[in-house]
Amino acid sequence: MPGFELFGDIERKHLNDVLDNGVLMRYGFEGMRKGHWKAKELEAALCGRMQVKHAQLVSSGTAALTVALASAGVGAGDEVIMPVFTFVASFESLMAVGAVPVLVDIDETLTLDPAAVEKAITPRTRVVMPVHMCGSSAQLRELKAICEKHNLLLLEDACQAIGGTYEGKPLGSYGDMGCFSFDYVKTITCGEGGAVITNNPEYAKHADHYSDHGHDHSGNDRGAEQHPFLGYNYRISELHAAVGLAQLSRLDDFLEVQKKNYTVLRQALETIPEVIFRKVPEGAEENYSFLSFFLPDEATTRKGHKALGEAGVDGCFYWYDNNWHYIKKWEHLKQLKSLGKMPQEIVDGMRDYDKSDFPASDAIIGRTVSVLVKLSWSEEQLRERAEKMVKAIRGAIG
Ligand SMILES: *Cc1c(COP(=O)(O)O)cnc(C)c1O
Repeated sequence: MPGFELFGDIERKHLNDVLDNGVLMRYGFEGMRKGHWKAKELEAALCGRMQVKHAQLVSSGTAALTVALASAGVGAGDEVIMPVFTFVASFESLMAVGAVPVLVDIDETLTLDPAAVEKAITPRTRVVMPVHMCGSSAQLRELKAICEKHNLLLLEDACQAIGGTYEGKPLGSYGDMGCFSFDYVKTITCGEGGAVITNNPEYAKHADHYSDHGHDHSGNDRGAEQHPFLGYNYRISELHAAVGLAQLSRLDDFLEVQKKNYTVLRQALETIPEVIFRKVPEGAEENYSFLSFFLPDEATTRKGHKALGEAGVDGCFYWYDNNWHYIKKWEHLKQLKSLGKMPQEIVDGMRDYDKSDFPASDAIIGRTVSVLVKLSWSEEQLRERAEKMVKAIRGAIG
């Protein structure tokens, strides 16, 4: 998925615009910037590409999730339902505002199981946070219906799925708010950066103020701004926004290459009847950043993953053993290992995940392998890769 593979002249041009005028800050300094407002331009471009009214750039995807939650007034003791398979940033962001992570099962889409979400709702639930893992959508229609029924916020973590769609809408634009990451390994990158998108003008205004110390951005005099509420510094710099602007303009080209490369690998694996592909919800289209598939059982999957590595197929993930992405190894979360004292609301609200089991998710993740789809492979490399993958997986199945 990495846009970092294809840096070029467009990135350099936008960066040089910023370096030439020297204004690295996204706000103010009108007189010096020679008309360059990279963050503002990127926000406008994101609105266009994602078909939403508002976009707020911030310093990371984690910051985007935090700002989104804060903007909707989510705070201490509120419960946020999220999947057991994601990246650690999902619970970090909500705990940063004092909210309690409520972890629930995934299904064969590798995203939230709507039935598990419904079961986890309590009077304290405020948010459902689906994570469009590995480039493909959660079951958004079902989740939206649950949110409407229980008056909950639907916040899409689309950090790994920019460019994917659901019922024709860009992922991130379907719920009340959506978040993207532009960190170094995402489909498009600016080094470090992120964005919140929404059609809700109130949330958008809050995100604008909250991500810049609560400044209300009124008028031209930064020193004279008011602070309707407390905020923080989650700003993006003009340097990062410049690279992001270039990368967003290339997103559709990247997606096309990803899809082409994904299709070659998928067609090769389709020759093995035991290989079942990750379920993509009806009406959804992936961004093709990963090819994810299931093998018949855990032992075969471990064998297959090992064989892929030994065959030199890089970028293959066995998430079940991965401590970034699956609950099984999130000891720091389960034991609330914090440097300081944890907010009491989190301590009180936290479920005992050492005792809870997620057998349904274990049975899925234990059989899942995901293969990173790169942009820069030559036809020759791609063909070789497909051959090696088929050989390794066939060998593992025996
Ligand atoms: C990368 C990622 C994030 C966080 O993004 P950063 O920009 O690295 O902070 C959040 N959620 C998911 C699913 C991610 O993959």
